[in-house]
Amino acid sequence: MPVKQGFCEWCGDRCKGRTYCSDFCRGKYTNLNLVHGKSLIQLLKIWRIHRGAKGTPGEGKLSDITFRLDQLLADDRQRRKEMTEARKLAAVANGVMAELLDKHEARKAAK
Ligand SMILES: [Zn+2]
Repeated sequence: MPVKQGFCEWCGDRCKGRTYCSDFCRGKYTNLNLVHGKSLIQLLKIWRIHRGAKGTPGEGKLSDITFRLDQLLADDRQRRKEMTEARKLAAVANGVMAELLDKHEARKAAK
C-alpha cells in the first residue's frame, strides 16, 4: 500500500495507479525498507517481549520506534523533494540544450 496515492514511493514522481514509477525506484525503495525494517523489527520485538514495562529493556521502546519512524518519513519527504527539484532542473536544462541545438542547426543551414 503506497504511503501517498498516485506518487512514486522513492522519487515522488506522479505514477497513477502504481506504487513506483519504475523498476529502478522499486528496487531502491525496497532496499531502503529492508535496511530500515531490520532495526525497527528489533525494537518492536524488545518492546513486545517486555510490553514496555518500566525498568525493562522494553521501557520507552514504543517512543523510540515512533521517533525513528518520524525521522524516516522526514527522510522520505526530503529525498522526494530533492528528486522533484532535480527533475525540474533537468527539464530546464533539456529545454536549453534543445534551443542551443536548434540555433546551431540554423547557423549551419545558413552557411
Ligand atoms: Zn520513481
